[in-house]
Amino acid sequence: MANLLERYFKETSLRIPTHPVLNNQDLPEPEYPVHEYFDPVERVRDNDILISVEERWKLERTLWRLSSNELPYISFPINSDERKLLDGGIREAGFDVFAFYKSRRYIDNRPYIGKWGIFYLEHGITRIRELIEETYPGYSSINIAYRFLREHERFHFKFDLYSLSAEAKIGRSLYDPLKRAFRNHRIYQVEEALSNHYAWEWARQKNVGLDEFAYDFMKIQPGAYARFDENKIELGGELAANLLDLNLSSTARREDQSLWIGTVPEELLRRQLCPEYFVRPVDLTTWISPAWKLPEVNEITESRSVVKLLAKKYASLKPLWENTKRKLIEDPTRNGLNFKPWPEIPNHWSVRINLNFRAHLHPIQPGKWEADELGPHKSLGHG
Ligand SMILES: [Zn+2]
Repeated sequence: MANLLERYFKETSLRIPTHPVLNNQDLPEPEYPVHEYFDPVERVRDNDILISVEERWKLERTLWRLSSNELPYISFPINSDERKLLDGGIREAGFDVFAFYKSRRYIDNRPYIGKWGIFYLEHGITRIRELIEETYPGYSSINIAYRFLREHERFHFKFDLYSLSAEAKIGRSLYDPLKRAFRNHRIYQVEEALSNHYAWEWARQKNVGLDEFAYDFMKIQPGAYARFDENKIELGGELAANLLDLNLSSTARREDQSLWIGTVPEELLRRQLCPEYFVRPVDLTTWISPAWKLPEVNEITESRSVVKLLAKKYASLKPLWENTKRKLIEDPTRNGLNFKPWPEIPNHWSVRINLNFRAHLHPIQPGKWEADELGPHKSLGHG
C-alpha cells in the first residue's frame, strides 16, 4: 500500500496539469550570469552502485560488533586526485556535488529511473569527514558528515512538498517552471542559500559544535550557496516570489509566504518516507568535471602593483601575506583561507589574508601563481 507521502504526491499531481504551460523560451530569464553547472541528469550514470542508507548503517553495525573497533563507520577510500576533484567541485558548483535531491515528480526520469529521494556521493561524505577532522582533530565521523549533508538536502525535500501544496491549491505547475528557468543558472537559486542555511544552523548547535568549519565550508561555495548567512526571512520571501510569481528578480519578495516556505506537516517528514541512498559512481570524473579540479599551488609571486602596495600602503600586511602564501602552498583547502574562484574575472582566484583583507591571484603556469590585486575585502568587490 502506498504510504502517506506517496499518496500526497499522487493526490496533488492530479490537480496539476502535466503538460508544461510555459516552454523554456517563454520563461523569464534570471538576472544572473550563465554558469557551467552540476546537473545530475547529465552527469550521473545509471550504472552507479546504490546502497540504501538503512543497508549501509546495518552493515556498519555488524562490522562494528565483529571488529570491537571504536570506529563504528568505515570510510569509503578516496585518493588525492579524487580529493582535488571534490575540492574543486564544491567551489565551482556547490554542495549538491556532494549530495543531491531528486523529487518524486521526476521518478520516471534520469538519473536512477524508478528511484527518488536523497543521493549521497560516498566520496563526498569521506571528504567532509576529512575536512572536519582537520578542523577538529579526533571529532569527526562518517555519521556527522552524513548528517551535515542531510540537513541541506532535507530543505530541498521540504521545499518540494511546500511547492506541491501551493500547486495543488491553485491548480498550476510552479516547481518545474522555476527549475527550468534556472537551468543555466543553477548555482544562483535562492533555494540553495536556504538549504545551506539549515545545514549551517544544524552544524552550529552547541551539541554539534561545527560552526567554524561549516561557516567556512559554505563560504567557499559559489553563487546563492554562499548567501546562507543572509536573513532567513528575506531569503524565504525571495524564494516564495520566485516560486509563486515566477518573479526571478533578487529584490522580489512574497513576505506573506516567507515563513511558510519549507514548512511541512510533521507526518510527511517521518524518516522512512523519503528514500536515501549512498552512491558509489563508477568513475568520479563523470560526476565531477575534471575542469573543476582544484589547481595546484606550488609557488606564488606578486605583480608589480602588489609589490608596490606591500612596500608602502600595506607594508604592515607583509608578514600576514607571507603567512597566507605559505599556508596556500601547504594546503589550499585549509580552513580560514577561503581560497575560491573569483567569478568576476575568468581564471582568477581569491584568498583571505585576514578578516578585512583579501588578495586575487591567477595561475601563470601550472602550479605557479601571481597575485595581482590586494586590498580590503569590500574594495576588491566582495560584498
Ligand atoms: Zn542543494
